[in-house]
Parts: sequence; C-alpha cells; structure tokens
Amino acid sequence: MKRELGIARCGLACCLCSENDQCPGCDSEGCPGYQDCENRKCSIEKGISSCWQCGEDCQKEILCKIKPYGFTAFAKRYGVETLLNCLEQNEKRGVIYHREGITGDYDAFDDIEELIEFIKTGRCK
Ligand code: SF4
Ligand code: SF4
Repeated sequence: MKRELGIARCGLACCLCSENDQCPGCDSEGCPGYQDCENRKCSIEKGISSCWQCGEDCQKEILCKIKPYGFTAFAKRYGVETLLNCLEQNEKRGVIYHREGITGDYDAFDDIEELIEFIKTGRCK
C-alpha cells in the first residue's frame, strides 16, 4: 500500500490501486476519465477536497458503485485516517483491493453496512 497516495475525491483508494505505479492519484490528473469525472468536478466546484467532506448523501456517477460509496460513507463517519488504517490492516490480513481488473474483495457487497463492517474487521459475516 502506498499510503501517501491516500483516498481519491470519490472514495476510491489510490493508495491500493493496481495502477498506482504509473498514476500519482486523483488530484494529479492520473485517473482515466478524470476530465469528465462528475465527482471530481463537483467537489472542486464546492471547494472541498473530497466527496466525504460533502454534506450530501449522493450517489452521482462513480458513487453509484458500492466500493467508492461505502469508502466515502466510512470516511464521513470515522475519518479518512481511520479508513487508511483499516485498509492497511486489511491488506496485511490478505484482503485484495484489485483482484481482477478494477474489482476485488471490497466490491463483493450489496449492503453498505456489511461493506463498512468488512472495512473495519477484514471479515465477512
Ligand atoms: S473517478 Fe474521479 S474522483 Fe475518482 S479517482 Fe478518478 S478522477 Fe478522481
Ligand atoms: S454532491 Fe456528490 S459528487 Fe458532489 S461533492 Fe458531494 S458527494 Fe461528491
């Protein structure tokens, strides 16, 4: 995990992305499609660094996916440093962020509370 890359504006974990050898992260314009990314544009327009700093419960664009939505909700509740601590711990437990392409163990949920519990513990119920 490259912790220094942190969490992207939308909640995706740049620090764990399998492309992070070539990409310096969301704010460095490395993410494919960043120019048209609604979450990036919207958070910049609002003058906030990320969707987890936003008061809206929004599922716009990439936030319609459980992983960025769940990571954003987790960071809103517990703070981004706690999210990074949990992701670091889970990586040591063997949790894989990108197992096949851009999906991995955090994508295997339909329920946001189950995903949040998995982020906390690295274990499924
Ligand atoms: S999808 Fe948008 S907000 Fe998320 S990492 Fe890419 S450019 Fe950043
Ligand atoms: S409205 Fe949605 S896309 Fe815009 S900053 Fe808030 S959470 Fe992000």
